[in-house]
Amino acid sequence: MTTLNFDTKAIREGYRTTGEQEHSEAIFMTSSFVFNSAEQAANRFSKEEPGNIYARFTNPTVDAFERKLAALEGAQACVATASGMAAIFATLMALLKSGDHIIASRNMFGTTIVLLNTIVTKFNISISYVDLSDLSAWEAAINDKTKLFLLETPSNPLGQVVDMSALSKISKAHDILLAVDNAVLTPALQKPLDLGADIVIHSATKYIDGQGRCLAGAVLATEDIIEQVHGFVRATGPSLSAFNAWIVLKGLDTLSLRMKAHSDNAMKLATWLEQQTTVEKVHYLGLESHAHHQLAKHQQSGFGGIVSFEIKGGREAAFKLVNATEIFSITANLGDTKSTITHPSSTTHGRLTDEEKSSANISEGLIRLSIGLEDVNDLIADINKGL
Ligand SMILES: *Cc1c(COP(=O)(O)O)cnc(C)c1O
Repeated sequence: MTTLNFDTKAIREGYRTTGEQEHSEAIFMTSSFVFNSAEQAANRFSKEEPGNIYARFTNPTVDAFERKLAALEGAQACVATASGMAAIFATLMALLKSGDHIIASRNMFGTTIVLLNTIVTKFNISISYVDLSDLSAWEAAINDKTKLFLLETPSNPLGQVVDMSALSKISKAHDILLAVDNAVLTPALQKPLDLGADIVIHSATKYIDGQGRCLAGAVLATEDIIEQVHGFVRATGPSLSAFNAWIVLKGLDTLSLRMKAHSDNAMKLATWLEQQTTVEKVHYLGLESHAHHQLAKHQQSGFGGIVSFEIKGGREAAFKLVNATEIFSITANLGDTKSTITHPSSTTHGRLTDEEKSSANISEGLIRLSIGLEDVNDLIADINKGL
């Protein structure tokens, strides 16, 4: 199906019926699979014959999700995981060894930084942090042990962007793998592999499910890399359940429609926010005022659903606004049909010191919105109450 367009692949790829002729994909809720004979069992275990053995290794519903997501990202192969964090951890553990060095963007999801600093370092893997957009900082941090670059673009909450094509030239010149967490835009709006990345990582919990129902993750890359990551998942157990695989599989059907709607709503709300006198600054990549607008326009096909803004009056004004909203859910989650509101300085970025906050531009008046699929006029009216 490689010649088909994105929206057709999103509906049709990975679809295989059983003998029951069902039209919607079946959920294979089974932990193990039976063999026709002792010979077949032996052949499956020795890998002479392909096929299912045990759901920690493979499952047809999980396989359908993996095939479809691989088609959408333009990847050779995919392995699904129980969550986004499991996908990141499995990638690092499968591909790195003691003594290796990685360079990571400073502007990443909070738990990713916790994973790196408190768990990955226990395995004698060292980490250097750089500013996402600063290409010369990535290059300067390379040493002869550097094996992997890890980043998210755009960053959350401020929407900084790195030029992936330029960064991939640096990584390739030094034989370093470039791994990109694509949870915030999804392949509907950005395809890192086309821009030179080697590995794409997903928290499918966010926009791929898109309805806040379950945790799921995925890693996509060449067959050779995915075989190693799959080997780690198979031996350590963070496999995706068939039920959750079915949820995210069905999420992919409507992904591009939803991402367009999230982006349209976010653009309208950001444009309105920019005109409000009590708003100091709006951070949305779709706005021409964003420093990375041109780069984002070039490497993304949309700007996504995350909007941040700074309100005059610091923490007090920000808390007042958060508490005044009635539609927005006060939660740090993102990528849901429901819009969410959060105050990064006291929640997602609360563990940072004041200096770290100011160097990351997380001010006390900063508010992050994940724009859902409600009517945007209702969302604007809701924010207006607090301004
Ligand atoms: C939520 C998130 C993760 C972690 O995913 P889980 O599914 O919650 O484990 C990783 N990266 C990004 C960018 C995220 O937003």
